[in-house]
Amino acid sequence: MPELPDVEIYRQDIERHALGRKVASAAVDADRMLRGVSASSLRDAVRGRTLDSARRVGKHLLLQLGEGGGWLHVHSGMTGRAVVYGEGDDAPAHARLRLDFEDGGHLAFTSQRKLGEFGLVDAPESFVRDRGLGPDPWEEGFDRKGFRDRLAGRRGSVKSALMNQEVLAGLGNVYVDEILFQAGLHPEIPVTDLDENTLGELHATMVQVLRTAVERGADPGRMPEGWLLPHREDGASCPRCDGTIVKARVSGRSTYRCDRHQEAPG
Ligand SMILES: [Zn+2]
Repeated sequence: MPELPDVEIYRQDIERHALGRKVASAAVDADRMLRGVSASSLRDAVRGRTLDSARRVGKHLLLQLGEGGGWLHVHSGMTGRAVVYGEGDDAPAHARLRLDFEDGGHLAFTSQRKLGEFGLVDAPESFVRDRGLGPDPWEEGFDRKGFRDRLAGRRGSVKSALMNQEVLAGLGNVYVDEILFQAGLHPEIPVTDLDENTLGELHATMVQVLRTAVERGADPGRMPEGWLLPHREDGASCPRCDGTIVKARVSGRSTYRCDRHQEAPG
């Protein structure tokens, strides 16, 4: 499932290669991915519109459809991605929504299993409110204190709190495991067991992990050797200590951690 770093890379690609371009037509290949809009009204809403800006809130992508045109909402499921390509290039496989620009180029959103959603929204602010999304960890002004305030007093494990989009929007299974690995915290530690200092350090680790992941194109193959990501395998050696990477289920998700430097709670 694309998480904050992946969606941020899609956003940057779109910003670099698709902004300012006018949409001549659109094609929808998976009606079941449409939310609150029909294929024909979505096509009508984007036709003749220029992509003015590309925003990301958590794992969601929002593209501004010109002055007064509202925003196109894209949420990628599992393997989905955003691809900008030219007239002579091969079209990506499994494109579920394709915007055709007047100049001949395209922007496609793919999804092999037709998971994810497309829709139209009035504004990013109302979208965040309607979805009940928490702050994005990269939001301007969201700092250590804001992070502590969001987590303070929460029930449940630190992993489930960090994955809860109403607490923070953008983190998912893989990056939460990475952050906890680097912070040396067991995924099942109750949030209430973390003191202010530990929460502050956890915030710093989170920001650092997200920044590095985006700098490296959110490409798992390019992450630092000392990270968990290249070693997400049951029984692998921990790249940080003499421990072993173990796999378990936490909050219903496959969770990887080191059995040594991420000690079990209490
Ligand atoms: Zn370790």
